[in-house]
Amino acid sequence: MGKKLSLDEYVLRVREINPAIKVLGTYVNSATKILHRCHCGREWNVAPSSILCSNAKSCRKCNDLSHDE
Ligand SMILES: [Zn+2]
Repeated sequence: MGKKLSLDEYVLRVREINPAIKVLGTYVNSATKILHRCHCGREWNVAPSSILCSNAKSCRKCNDLSHDE
């Protein structure tokens, strides 16, 4: 059985995994999209599970740009 993640725990997890991403919204559960902000200033809604499970270090826009190399 999975431990339910609190908002504080989620913020800490994101800080460890994706330091460039700041959590702006209020954590509801892993599947409910909330607002996040990338280091580039872009704000977007994404489900916490997508942040924690992906290797994305930033928003999709920044990821697309980094694919050029
Ligand atoms: Zn970005």
